[in-house]
Amino acid sequence: MEGQFEEKLLSSLRTEMKTGRYAPADIALVERAFVFAAEAHSGQKRMSGEPYIIHPVSTAYRLAHMRLDAETISGALLHDVCEDTHVSPKDIRKVLGERIAFLVEGITKLDQVRYRETERDAENLRKMFLAVAKDIRIVLIKLADRFHNMETLHYVAPEKRKRIAMETLEIYAPLAYRLGIGELKGQLEDLAFPYAYPQEHHWLMRHIKDTLEERRAYAARLIPKIQRELECEKLYPKNIHARAKHHYSLYRKLVMRNEDIRNIHDLIALRIIVGTVEECYRALGIIHKFWPPLPGRIKDYIATPKPNGYQSLHTTVFGPEKKITEIQIRTPSMHEEAENGIAAHWAYTELKNNPATAVVKGLPHAKNLAWVSQLREWQKEFQNPEDFLESLKIDFFKDRIFVFTPKGEVLDLPEGSTPIDFAYQIHSQVGDTAVGARVNGRMVTLSHELKNVDVVEILTQKNKKPSQGWLKFVKTASAKKKILSVLRQKK
Ligand code: MN
Repeated sequence: MEGQFEEKLLSSLRTEMKTGRYAPADIALVERAFVFAAEAHSGQKRMSGEPYIIHPVSTAYRLAHMRLDAETISGALLHDVCEDTHVSPKDIRKVLGERIAFLVEGITKLDQVRYRETERDAENLRKMFLAVAKDIRIVLIKLADRFHNMETLHYVAPEKRKRIAMETLEIYAPLAYRLGIGELKGQLEDLAFPYAYPQEHHWLMRHIKDTLEERRAYAARLIPKIQRELECEKLYPKNIHARAKHHYSLYRKLVMRNEDIRNIHDLIALRIIVGTVEECYRALGIIHKFWPPLPGRIKDYIATPKPNGYQSLHTTVFGPEKKITEIQIRTPSMHEEAENGIAAHWAYTELKNNPATAVVKGLPHAKNLAWVSQLREWQKEFQNPEDFLESLKIDFFKDRIFVFTPKGEVLDLPEGSTPIDFAYQIHSQVGDTAVGARVNGRMVTLSHELKNVDVVEILTQKNKKPSQGWLKFVKTASAKKKILSVLRQKK
């Protein structure tokens, strides 16, 4: 029975990869990873009662759909084996190689990052998340992992759901947005919304139901009209579709602007996909000829992309039947990028066929992004995709390190910080009475330089006082200040 179920899962993944024109060797690698994962998880069940392997395969499937490389897909298949089974990174290294083991280890490490509502600000956690991940592909695996966990959240114990949903809203959705994966961001938020804010969700759903249906019907009438007007001008759109606004972002908009649902005009937006940038502007002109735009509502994100690289033309018009409607116009590659974000920059097929254009394509407009210009710099140095993927390490936060308490809480410190800086960051009492430190289980001096992802434990002794000598090596201004103030008191 289990064998049949597994065969079905593998064959769906294989089909998706064939559709994406992956090379036979890459499909073979993913199949080996599948066999390894199925073996390791054999006998385990999800909360839903289904065989566990369905979860890693769902995660891998989504990444294959985004056309990420075979290593990432394999890493996704194995992402939970070190956590949940007897398998060690060493075993993975032996069977599937160094690079897949590296991805899996990265994910396991990332799982130490815990979110608490009362804790430090979410922005810091997001940064730390990226710094700990070391490789953007690890973050992408984590996002796909979270997506499937959110889809199946109703199987999880009720008291855990809210925390997981809040974490999704605060950490994962913004990360997806930052990486330009707008579609995933919206989906994650909508999956989390009912668990994070049940009453608000209920209220919204009750209030938009009629309006939404009426708007859908209207969009269905409008699409053929637009199609006709464009074709009359010899412009043949590749696709026109209606798109409902994501619930959570709609809710935020209502709350933040204190608006009435009837005045939200983008409940359903129409999206027109045309062949070229030039056709985008032409389509906009044609639409405005028939339906005048609302003043101040034309947005040219092609000339001025959003900071995460998003491009499109947006307009809000007085449409037929005197209804106000939002319309978005973009090219297929803008659409692809809006859906897949950073992943679109090294989509598998393009990378294999032409590594240079795969990365350069779509980049010039996104020059505002630090990571994009960094990618571009790196890309210049590498002739083949292998080396390029290898180079996708995250070091945007070069000047900060992120270290853990033995309980898994996270502190961020400037590079070159010492256990004393760490101790004062926790509490001045801990700093004042520090006598020693253990880093990753080993005793170190108090002037020892901490590294990213170290686990630091401070040993204290009652009635101890800070020493003058500490001032020579502490890095943070706050620790310095506290030490000085105690030293002054002593005098
Ligand atoms: Mn997982």
